[in-house]
Amino acid sequence: MMDLIWLLLPVAAASGWVAAKNSSLKKNKSRGNPSFLSERYIRGLNYLLNEQQDKALEFFVEMVEVDSETVETHLVLGSLFRRRGEVDRAIRIHQNLIARPNLERPHKIQALLELGKDYMKAGLLDRAEGVFNELINLGSETSEPYSLLRDIYVQESEWERAIETSRQFERFSKEPQDVMISQFYCELAKKELKQSNTAQAIAYGKKAASLDKSNVRASLILADCAREQEDYKKAIQSLSLVMQQDPQFFPVILPMVKDCFAQLGSPEELAKFLIQAEKSYDGPSLIRAQTDFMIQANRISDAREVLNEIFTEKKFTPELIQSYASLLSLDHSGSLPEPLFKVIDTMAELGEDEFSYRCRQCGFEAMSLFWQCPSCHGWNTVYPIDEWMIHHRELQ
Ligand SMILES: [Zn+2]
Repeated sequence: MMDLIWLLLPVAAASGWVAAKNSSLKKNKSRGNPSFLSERYIRGLNYLLNEQQDKALEFFVEMVEVDSETVETHLVLGSLFRRRGEVDRAIRIHQNLIARPNLERPHKIQALLELGKDYMKAGLLDRAEGVFNELINLGSETSEPYSLLRDIYVQESEWERAIETSRQFERFSKEPQDVMISQFYCELAKKELKQSNTAQAIAYGKKAASLDKSNVRASLILADCAREQEDYKKAIQSLSLVMQQDPQFFPVILPMVKDCFAQLGSPEELAKFLIQAEKSYDGPSLIRAQTDFMIQANRISDAREVLNEIFTEKKFTPELIQSYASLLSLDHSGSLPEPLFKVIDTMAELGEDEFSYRCRQCGFEAMSLFWQCPSCHGWNTVYPIDEWMIHHRELQ
């Protein structure tokens, strides 16, 4: 039965809940009515299992009226109210529980945890923070208050505190937190960079890179810092590292790479970089960069050949078709027949409303790059979309 309770009430923390239930069952036994509570509970929980939240709520409200002393009934009720968005009622229930003079410690810990969650849901982050800190001072035996406290610091952009709390969470949960902490150091670096404190930004960026060797963002920050210091070779080193960490970020680094090689006055090095990138990346933006480079170097037939090859593979993008059309127009004294322009314009419209970024974890799509997904709150899960349009059916 306990397994079922866990399924139904994922919000309840282990120690408080189990302790509350055991102690209440003992009380009922002493009243000579051992099965009263468990039978009624099973009924109430069955409603929850069948997703009949309204009925469950009605049922638990009745239970509280019959037996106002039972702590866990109040806990279930409070949690139900919160899940339905009735946060004020949830808060009242949990506050009343905590105010009981003889409340046992496990119950108090559970009620405080629930109250903190109520405050979070109500957006009262200061109050939630106070409650979770009280819980930690009381000696809560679970890692949950630390993880919730960290969520608050993240929401408030208090990155030093988020780092500290992550370490505390790690000690309790035994789950390594370096990857997330690395992101928090990136946040600190970003803040310093904005205020032109480049040296401090570099220190944070390096710390982030040391905690998570695959952290693309740390490499991008260090590249930004190097560009700020006009050290373009160093910037290119960091950007090249991105290609090893996660080649999917090629479209993100491309403008920076172009700028760095332009600053260094070495376009041939850009060509080498683009050829090197082919080993790990084959998105359309790479082909576009290569053909643009060829066009600029007046290697028109090379560019046309590359595009011809791509189209032969039945891959295309509206942008590349436009690029191809402009190459064709060079053969026709810079102009193309009117109907062909219409086709090209229609192709261009196809690509206009497309999102540029997508979350690997939840599929959220956006026009700009987020390091924490606004939808699933995962860190470093959003990546640039740079996909070919392909005639799948013909290829399969
Ligand atoms: Zn997401």
